[in-house]
Amino acid sequence: MLLRAFQTKFPLKPNNFSLLSSFFSQSRFHSLKSFSIQELKNEYEKNAISKKLPWAKIIADFEKLKKDIELDKVRESQKIPRINDIQELHTEIKNSKKPIRIIGAGHSAATAIFSGNSENDTRLKLDGTFRSVKFSKEKDNNGNEFDVVTVGGGCNLGVDPLDRDFLHIYSTVENSLIEQLSKKSYALPIVGGITHQTIGGFMLTGSAGGSLKHGFADCIQSFKFMNGKGEIIHAKRGTDIFEAVGVSMGLMGVITEVTLKLEPNYQVRAQEEVKEKKDSWLNKTKAGDYPLENVLKNTEYMHLNWIPLKDVDKVMQWEAARIKCEEDKKGYKQGPYQHPMAKWIDSSEVALFFTIIDSILRQENVPPIILKQEINTIAFLYRKFTDYKLQKCWEDWDKILPTEDQIPVDSTMQTLFTEIWFPVEHTTKLIDALDEFYQDKFAALGNYAVELYGAKSSPFWLSPAYGRDVIRVDLFWWKHNKSDPVKFFQKFFDRILAEIPDGRLHWGKYMPIVNHPFGSVHKGNQRIFNLDYLKQQYPKMNEWLKIREEMDPNQLFVTPYWRNLFNLQAAPKPTFSQQFKP
Ligand SMILES: Cc1cc2nc3c(=O)[nH]c(=O)nc-3n(C[C@H](O)[C@H](O)[C@H](O)COP(=O)(O)OP(=O)(O)OC[C@H]3O[C@@H](n4cnc5c(N)ncnc54)[C@H](O)[C@@H]3O)c2cc1C
Repeated sequence: MLLRAFQTKFPLKPNNFSLLSSFFSQSRFHSLKSFSIQELKNEYEKNAISKKLPWAKIIADFEKLKKDIELDKVRESQKIPRINDIQELHTEIKNSKKPIRIIGAGHSAATAIFSGNSENDTRLKLDGTFRSVKFSKEKDNNGNEFDVVTVGGGCNLGVDPLDRDFLHIYSTVENSLIEQLSKKSYALPIVGGITHQTIGGFMLTGSAGGSLKHGFADCIQSFKFMNGKGEIIHAKRGTDIFEAVGVSMGLMGVITEVTLKLEPNYQVRAQEEVKEKKDSWLNKTKAGDYPLENVLKNTEYMHLNWIPLKDVDKVMQWEAARIKCEEDKKGYKQGPYQHPMAKWIDSSEVALFFTIIDSILRQENVPPIILKQEINTIAFLYRKFTDYKLQKCWEDWDKILPTEDQIPVDSTMQTLFTEIWFPVEHTTKLIDALDEFYQDKFAALGNYAVELYGAKSSPFWLSPAYGRDVIRVDLFWWKHNKSDPVKFFQKFFDRILAEIPDGRLHWGKYMPIVNHPFGSVHKGNQRIFNLDYLKQQYPKMNEWLKIREEMDPNQLFVTPYWRNLFNLQAAPKPTFSQQFKP
């Protein structure tokens, strides 16, 4: 196996690495299903040379992780009632004594979706007619016809692998939006890194793909939603209600359908390569800026993943463009994008790798000299994991743009994120600040990558891209790490969000703790994360709050988390039957 080959190439003294490599080298561990803890224990007993690390604990952690993942899947899919049509939805909302929360693919931070636990809210999943996909035509102001698709609010863009139970598979390739577009040779302008999301969840959190040229919001023509008074509202592009409700985290009602303008199928060519940071888009030029800003502004689709650990400092750069003529394909191989991780490293190996790293980092009283050796080992492994060749391919848009769809992001590779969006003009400030932050060798431990990409300006008032093109910094935290993601993200809120002007947070990812400070008193940039702060970042916040109040006067959709953040006064006791339209 790969690591055994490394070991032959780079002979190491007997130490922890030989143990790691023997774990990784077991081909029978290629999937979680075939993974046997006993086998792993035997391997450990056979090979254990240094007992400094609690390997038995590592193994136990990994076993627990495996069980948690399996249980999670069963629990999630079974407990949420499914709503099949408008009438059922109306009845549910009318009878509910708790806040109504719709779960899409459940990919957002839990606080964005639920109250603290399932006792405190009514959780619903949209199914049946809410998955429908209908094609038709509309006319623009000049009378020109164009093609549209009207999609039920619960329809997944691609496939949500967790939307199943023992008896049913609810989300399939066949009922996904993308497959139905593909069959009719239609396309969307862009999608995010994965396509598991529902159209409702994707739109309402302001999610976006990596491009300043193509925005998902560009193709949204209108949508319908049932508000807190039981009314169905048709919000059309260009109106206040459209711009207010389009990004509203489910706080104004339930999105029942969305109408998207279609374009003909197109092909995309992509290339990905790994660079040392000094040769990458993150290398400062003599003029004092970074190539990344130009790449963001001039490339059709792009993103990069930077491994900032000092002894790694590699950048995986991905860029893509639509193919306009035969010439554009030259040097590119036809075929879908292959994620390097999905291709040659099994995710369970990566998961074990992260488990071990986390265990190493949680050791107490490790002498600095040993810690240094551990970090070197981690860096060595990371360098090898990112040692892949230039990839150039072309295919239909839907086979190239969602680059992370092949990774098991819902199980072993589950990741928590925080993501901050800044005006693209602040690119230099952002990279300078990140660079400074990662001067500290230990600061880069814990997260495995930092993603940098862009988003096109959006018409939705609460989109973090409202009124400006943005650069986004997406900070990863492996969900099964034992250490605390809140503390981990706080460091970035203190150093990045507080220091660079005009930052706005992705609504579907982790945010600072409500009513708590971030930043530094010493530097004079400490702020409190609350409504006043949001009002400074979002020019239409007051108008948004007013429309929210009109749409949902009884706060039927509001959880304590959102009530706190938006400083909503407790609503009058709901009088559902009086409020509700028949
Ligand atoms: C692995 C991974 C990759 C990601 N990649 C990207 C990316 O490339 N770009 C990006 O911008 N984001 C990305 N995200 C974030 C993701 O797009 C958002 O979290 C998105 O909201 C998830 O959609 P969902 O269907 O899972 O919605 P959920 O997370 O289930 O819900 C999101 C919010 O919308 C509400 N909601 C959902 N549907 C409805 C409805 N029909 N009516 C009313 N309220 C509703 C929910 O209550 C919740 O408040 C990624 C997340 C993960 C985990």
